[in-house]
Amino acid sequence: MGADANDSFDIAIVGGGMVGASLAVALKGLQVRVALIEAVPHDAASQPSFDERTTALSNGSRCILETLGVWPAVAAAATPIAKIHVSDQGHFGFARIDAAEQGLRALGYVVANRALGAALWSTLADQGDLRVYCPARVSRLTAGEQAVEIGVAEASGAETLIRARLVVAADGVESAVRAAFGVSAAVRDYDQTAVITTVLPRNFHQHVAYERFTANGPLALLPQNDGRCTLVLTLQRSMAESAMRWSDEEFLAEVQRRFGFRLGRFLKVGRRVAYPLALTRASRTSAGRCAIIGNAAQGLHPVAGMGFNLGLRDVACLAELVAEHLALHPGNPELRDFGASGLLSAYDAWRAADRGEIIAFTDGLVRLFANPLRAVQRLRNLGLLAFDLLPPAKAALSSLSTGAAGRIPKLARGVALGAPL
Ligand SMILES: Cc1cc2nc3c(=O)[nH]c(=O)nc-3n(C[C@H](O)[C@H](O)[C@H](O)COP(=O)(O)OP(=O)(O)OC[C@H]3O[C@@H](n4cnc5c(N)ncnc54)[C@H](O)[C@@H]3O)c2cc1C
Repeated sequence: MGADANDSFDIAIVGGGMVGASLAVALKGLQVRVALIEAVPHDAASQPSFDERTTALSNGSRCILETLGVWPAVAAAATPIAKIHVSDQGHFGFARIDAAEQGLRALGYVVANRALGAALWSTLADQGDLRVYCPARVSRLTAGEQAVEIGVAEASGAETLIRARLVVAADGVESAVRAAFGVSAAVRDYDQTAVITTVLPRNFHQHVAYERFTANGPLALLPQNDGRCTLVLTLQRSMAESAMRWSDEEFLAEVQRRFGFRLGRFLKVGRRVAYPLALTRASRTSAGRCAIIGNAAQGLHPVAGMGFNLGLRDVACLAELVAEHLALHPGNPELRDFGASGLLSAYDAWRAADRGEIIAFTDGLVRLFANPLRAVQRLRNLGLLAFDLLPPAKAALSSLSTGAAGRIPKLARGVALGAPL
């Protein structure tokens, strides 16, 4: 079976989760023929990206989503973070970051992944240049010199063959597309599992997000609009397996022991879901006619809440390079080749520093706070205190989390793609 002209695309995005769907939105209106292939509908209970988690969005991500026109729908479901409080259980150091001190409206926003999915996918529904294959999986990939042939297996059992000049791997940490292009990924298993749930504290959270490091791993509480908090409790894997079986009372007692009474007594807990944690790092961010983005490029520990924020910057950079390439070939689709090696090496070069810094920062944080040695403990407490006292350190963290290092993509500066600047 061969692909006809109707099945030929400029770009095929494999994976319509948080990052792949964001890229489809970013390419909207550029007059690029895009295919989006997603295995599970965004509102299905089994959707692995738009699931029960909440995501902390940085200000950089807010700006990107604003420029893409998705922010009003996201903001309607989002809770602003006014302060972040970082502490280390049993030790004296702690750090506070305050939005007002930094001259910001908020340090970030907490949004339910399902709400993010609804906001992104409702924008995709009315897109002329986009063909959505969902539910459908990529069954095979054959890389040719001019294009890649992609077998798309739909839920009905039918298989369609499509062609694309560029394939984007947005299919998550286990990316089959990345593997099909021969790109390996190094995995560091942290032997930790994040147990995610919602808790209701007696006291209102006042829009403060808490990050507390404990001997067994970090605990984060993120504010929600209704006074509840998302709890991300990271535990050694064997302990997490037990924690999933504890009664609600036992579970809340353990959370209370680790977190203390800053928010009063925890009154209620929701359903618990477990996520085993690892650092997965692809050896490269492109190969052949494939660009690798989001978790397919790097899957991070959620300790600093940076995975999606980083993936969204992959999107902003790649979409900008696509727009630049289009501007070089106005009105002649035959000359456009979004899988050209020049475009992909520009993508690799642009992403290298931001990606390297965030991976090193996140991995360093996990390892620093997992180290039981006294000297390290003392250092990390002094570090937290110094961090609290030194505004430049806070500003540096703020810029790291918003991706303000290096060349900032247009979308993160509020400039629409296609606009001069
Ligand atoms: C517990 C936890 C908390 C987190 N909290 C935060 C946070 O606060 N802030 C933050 O920035 N990040 C956070 N993250 C990270 C964030 O969730 C990820 O960075 C994000 O999910 C990456 O999105 P993605 O689209 O790249 O991959 P995924 O979310 O894995 O989505 C991949 C998509 O591809 C589809 N797919 C897979 N294979 C195929 C195929 N063969 N064919 C078609 N479709 C396919 C899947 O169905 C899925 O929809 C957290 C992660 C965890 C585990």
